Amino acid sequence: MATTVYNPFASAQKQFDKTAEMLDLDKATSDLLRFPMKEFHFQFPIQMDDGSVKVFKAYRIQHNDARGPAKGGIRFHPQETADTIRALAMWMTWKTAVADIPLGGAKGGVICDPHDLSNYEQERICRAYVRHLSANLGPNVDIPSPEIMTNAQHMLWMLDEYETIKGQRLPGTLTGKPVGMGGSLGRKEATGYGVIINVREALKELGLEIDKTTASIQGFGNVAQYAIELFQQMGGKVICVSAWDQKEQKALAYRKKDGIILEELQSIADIFGGINKERAISLGYEILEGEKWIEQDVDILIPAALDNSITAENMQMISKNVKMLAEAANGPTSSEASNYIEERGIFTIPDFLANSGGVICSYFEQVQSNMNYYWEKEEVLSKLDTKITSAYISVSNFAMENDLNLRDAAYAIAVDRVARACHDRGWV
Ligand code: NAD
Repeated sequence: MATTVYNPFASAQKQFDKTAEMLDLDKATSDLLRFPMKEFHFQFPIQMDDGSVKVFKAYRIQHNDARGPAKGGIRFHPQETADTIRALAMWMTWKTAVADIPLGGAKGGVICDPHDLSNYEQERICRAYVRHLSANLGPNVDIPSPEIMTNAQHMLWMLDEYETIKGQRLPGTLTGKPVGMGGSLGRKEATGYGVIINVREALKELGLEIDKTTASIQGFGNVAQYAIELFQQMGGKVICVSAWDQKEQKALAYRKKDGIILEELQSIADIFGGINKERAISLGYEILEGEKWIEQDVDILIPAALDNSITAENMQMISKNVKMLAEAANGPTSSEASNYIEERGIFTIPDFLANSGGVICSYFEQVQSNMNYYWEKEEVLSKLDTKITSAYISVSNFAMENDLNLRDAAYAIAVDRVARACHDRGWV
């Protein structure tokens, strides 16, 4: 029997088609936005540490730059495909548009597994990637950032190569750089805090007080930890988190019914967001199977780990008291589960609005890098709050005026903004 393989680009196009129909977009605009504007598929030879030469395949796909320079991460992944990068580039266009920052959407990748590469080999890959693309990158052209298996060090190698080619310092070419080397304060907090700023605004609309709400969170990485920090500062209580256990090769959930203590869990977590099970037990945490995070009797569920983690298989397990789903991860809810959650009347903050704090702060980093003048953390976080609150309110108002859910409203606003920019430029 033939099996259908999930194609992220087909899924991104399907979502776009639905929105284009809702907005009654003309054919030329739809044709333009259904596909990326430019694609670079290339390969380069790298001399390995043992003297052999290996050829690596790479991509950079710029979906649209009508609203500003293209923006999006570069991933290192052994199973990378052009269609994954196409989809991610398109989603970046919608994310920057819904956040209303003057940037477009792009994504890139190299087919490789950094686990099998030395630092020197990774450095050579970064430099070769930029050498092949230098004419099509830059602070006013396309601005990459870290993504899966790339980090601040990779960005610095890429920046150094770019600046060497151009013969000048151009720190606004890449974001995700370390603080002190062109990075922005507040970046590590930005995505998690942004999720909770959205939650705060949504709770106001539902007439709920944040300091009387409880949450259960999937994941204990960068996004989850800062989401917990701000949620707790606002008086909310997190009773359960889940994380991947490397030793047991499965996810586990850690529950404390009076509320987990963030600093305590951070003190027994590793840099990948894994939690030491034995030490958690000694600190009084109940250890449950990983899936149990979804069954908790809480007001808010926050998936902040993986895509496709709420599906037809587990959606029925969501407790009857859950009122809100804040999609911190990218694509955490399958389309079947999304429909079910909507029918249940659970209020969903869609991923590309919920986690837009990261790209908003990357934009702030780029602005600071271009000026070569860096803001205090308070200033960054206050600007982040203003930007996300305003994005949330626009989406929510549009949803109410047009009787839409937040996801469809966010797509409609984003696609409309990009379509208008293309039109105003005289492209279509
Ligand atoms: P991370 O790598 O720092 O943390 C991932 C966490 O998920 C870890 O705690 C890990 O143990 C946990 N995990 C992995 N598999 C799990 C499983 N099966 N069950 C439960 N937990 C599991 O990642 P992150 O940066 O926090 O990103 C989390 C999600 O948010 C991803 O989907 C990412 O694409 C998305 N996102 C991140 C950012 C950002 O700025 N970091 C921005 C936008 C979107």
